[in-house]
Formats: sequence, structure tokens, C-alpha cells
Amino acid sequence: MRRKLVVGNWKMNGSRTSNAVLLSEIVAGLAASGAASAVCVPAPYLAQCQAQLAGTALGWGAQDVSAHASGAYTGEISTAMLQDFGCGYVVIGHSERRAYHGESDAQVAAKTVAALAAGITPIVCIGETLAQREAGQTNAVVAQQLGAVLAAISADDVAKLVLAYEPVWAIGTGKTATPQMAQDVHQVLRAQLVAKNAVAATGVQILYGGSMKPENAKELMAMPDIDGGLIGGAALKAADFLAIIHAAD
Ligand code: 13P
Repeated sequence: MRRKLVVGNWKMNGSRTSNAVLLSEIVAGLAASGAASAVCVPAPYLAQCQAQLAGTALGWGAQDVSAHASGAYTGEISTAMLQDFGCGYVVIGHSERRAYHGESDAQVAAKTVAALAAGITPIVCIGETLAQREAGQTNAVVAQQLGAVLAAISADDVAKLVLAYEPVWAIGTGKTATPQMAQDVHQVLRAQLVAKNAVAATGVQILYGGSMKPENAKELMAMPDIDGGLIGGAALKAADFLAIIHAAD
């Protein structure tokens, strides 16, 4: 069976002082957790994560990466730089990057290819807006987003992906997709993975993200194709994040 994975996406939050406390509280509470877990932090804090988390069960990673290897790309961060700081994961194509930074499906695919080439697990985010859901376009939207990534990678690389289904209308709003609504989309995504590599598809972790919290985590993760969570707000409090991780046990 697929091991559950719970990842905190800190977004643009934190300070060296507050991170030190949060990370040590999370690590202290992880004991005997059955799920894998990680935090994806703002890039300036990757060194702090490496120093504090190496040798612990809590993984770490970044929230974005450049598709380019190096050179004249002011402000960008390369996969090699993430490797330098021991990152195991990178969030790619979060809806906030798609919406506020104009990231296209093609860019998301190129970043995914770069992460895979560097041996960093890409957490590829996909999801529909409220208008798209209300127009009955959810399955078509997520199929297009995932399709762009699958077209860019080899069948063998399917096994190295993590997907996150994050309905945009559920992010930071307190509105959660019902377990069945999320499962329905996860099943569609799984079927699309199967078409690319049937064997590998059964092992790919598909996370749900969007107002996941201790109160709803267990029932969401009990669904057959929901393999964990990508957690925003609730990942900033150790007790809440730990409760979600342990809900996956
Ligand atoms: P919230 O958990 O704050 O809704 O954020 C979800 C998210 O965007 C994680 O990437």
C-alpha cells in the first residue's frame, strides 16, 4: 500500500526564531508516526532546515524552483541550489504561483522535469477555481494540468511524482472539499497516471490540499485515493500539523 505523506507548505511565513521552535516541536511529536512528513519553507530558511532536521524523520523542501540550470535568471533558484541544502521535495505549480506569477502548464512541466533530473521529488499541484467547478469543468481542468506534466516526462518517471489536488476555492478559505468530492478527482488523476504507466500509477501519492485541518484530516485521508495532505495554515502550528500527521497513521 501507499505510505501516507503529509507536507506543510509554509508559504511566505516564518522567521529564524519562530521556525526553530516550530521545527523542534514537530520533530519532538513525530515519534512512531506511520506517515512520512516534510515541510516546504521559504528558500532563505532551507539552511536552517538542513541544520535542524538532518537525521530526523521530518523532511524538507522548497516551494518553487527554476526550470533553468544556472545563469542570468535574477531571483530564481536552481535545483542544484536545492540539492546543496538537502531538499527532498519541491512544490511545483501551486495555484498561488499560477495565479500571481502567471505560471503556465508548460512552465510547471519544465520545472517538474528539472526537479526529477536532480532527484528531488516534485509535489505537482493541480486544481480548479470555483468558477471552473461551477461550470462543470473540474475534470477537464485537472486533466489538462496533469496532462502537460505527463507529456513532458518519461513513463518511468511517473513513479517519482507526488501530486497534490488543491481546489483553489478551498485554499485558505476554511471551505474543504468533501471527502467524496476530493476522492472523485483523485480517482480521475489516478486513471490518467495509469494511462501513462499502469504499474507506477498505483504507487503515486496523491495529496489533498485546501483547508485540511485536524478536524477533517482523518476522513479525507480514509478515502482510497487520498494519500496524504498538503497543509497551509494548519502547518504553522505544531499541534495542528502533528494531529494531521497522526491522523494518517
Ligand atoms: P490551506 O491549508 O491554508 O487552505 O492551504 C492549502 C495550500 O495551499 C497548501 O499548499
